[in-house]
Amino acid sequence: MFRKNAWNEYAPEERSRALDFARSYMDFLNAAKTEREACACAEDICAAAGFRDLDKVIASGEKLKPGDKVYLNWMGKSFLAFVIGEQPIECGLNILGAHIDSPRIDIKQNPLFEEEGLCYLDTHYYGGIKKYQWLAMPLALHGVIVRKDGSKAELRLGENEDDPVFCITDLLPHLAHEQMEKSAAKFVDGEALNVLIGGEPLKDTEKDAVKAGVLKLLQETYSVCEEDFISAELELVPAGRCRDVGFDRSMILGYGHDDRVCAYPSLMAVAEYEGTPKRTLAAVLTDKEEIGSVGATGMDSAFFENAVAELIALTAGESDLKVRRALSNSRMLSSDVSAGFDPCYAGVFEKKNAAILGQGVCFNKYTGARGKSGASDANAEFMAEVRLAMDDARVCWQTSEIGKVDVGGGGTIAYLCARYGMNVIDCGVPVLSMHAPWEIVSKADLWEAMKGYVAFLGA
Ligand code: MN
Ligand code: MN
Repeated sequence: MFRKNAWNEYAPEERSRALDFARSYMDFLNAAKTEREACACAEDICAAAGFRDLDKVIASGEKLKPGDKVYLNWMGKSFLAFVIGEQPIECGLNILGAHIDSPRIDIKQNPLFEEEGLCYLDTHYYGGIKKYQWLAMPLALHGVIVRKDGSKAELRLGENEDDPVFCITDLLPHLAHEQMEKSAAKFVDGEALNVLIGGEPLKDTEKDAVKAGVLKLLQETYSVCEEDFISAELELVPAGRCRDVGFDRSMILGYGHDDRVCAYPSLMAVAEYEGTPKRTLAAVLTDKEEIGSVGATGMDSAFFENAVAELIALTAGESDLKVRRALSNSRMLSSDVSAGFDPCYAGVFEKKNAAILGQGVCFNKYTGARGKSGASDANAEFMAEVRLAMDDARVCWQTSEIGKVDVGGGGTIAYLCARYGMNVIDCGVPVLSMHAPWEIVSKADLWEAMKGYVAFLGA
């Protein structure tokens, strides 16, 4: 059971390809800090690679043939890319499924208030965060405000050097004796997470003059009024670009590696696929994984199944049975991150079944917690097929569990796809400081994920 360190396997040429790929990933990560931005980037990448909009193909009345490439941008928040294979789609797809939402802090629908000359937006955090990590750090505001007439203001404020940023304040240590006694979970209330957005009163205004000043600016800049927050989706994310980590620059510090570090190679493996594959290929980039995959853009929605039904109709002719066969005959890598073994917190891991940074892409046969509760446990037969595909392609890979048996656990979209009867296994990049504002991955593991995903598509 010897496990290799991927870096040791690289000839200079492969090492530089791995580093180039990391650089292109970092560009993607900087551009795609929300699910909407990730979808827009994915659409650009696919359009440039010759993919056509599935909706337009349907509207045109054309049929699809092997080698054709199509994408679906679902509500601007989930994204699908397909390459049609030689075999009928009912024989099953090879699917790479990742998510493009990340833990963050959302703005409430009635958020604006002023207290003692300071203006705030009230927030509601999204996903599993340690709330205290988000205090006293620069935050950027991304998202959309949809006016009543349906027109949209798009915000992306806090990313450029001269942009303002936003901040949730923390208590000074001098007055924090009581706060410091609290457990980390109770250190700061969710309700106390208010983000500071203004401090200069509008002249000649009697009541809430700072808020009036902010609203005036919003009106002038974005043509929106206070009521427009009702139909807005605004997200606070850590401000700034991802960075190399370490003297050797072997790792990346970035916001939202979970799960864009798997979404990017999943998308690229499909987008850059050359020729006509045997089986139809799919990249699924879904929203809402971090809150249970619920809602119209989450994996629990039927958008993927519906898209497969459209593909069947465009290739073999409409057939509900063929859709069911296509899904149950499919094979999927649920491309999601796993916890990287952290020597500074070694006690929560079981080392020989932990994902070690630098040892390549990692497979979690099952996730879940304690007695495998909530686990989607991949079949041993499927695991064996995947092992063969990885070894044939000389991928550096490892297997892992998130942590010690009784300590905790997690889940991914795997179980939702497994409902169709398809074979699915979790496969992704190990992450340090997962769900923190800034997470860390190894560039070698990212490259091995890309190699592994390509190998899986061709299998
Ligand atoms: Mn994830
Ligand atoms: Mn997560």
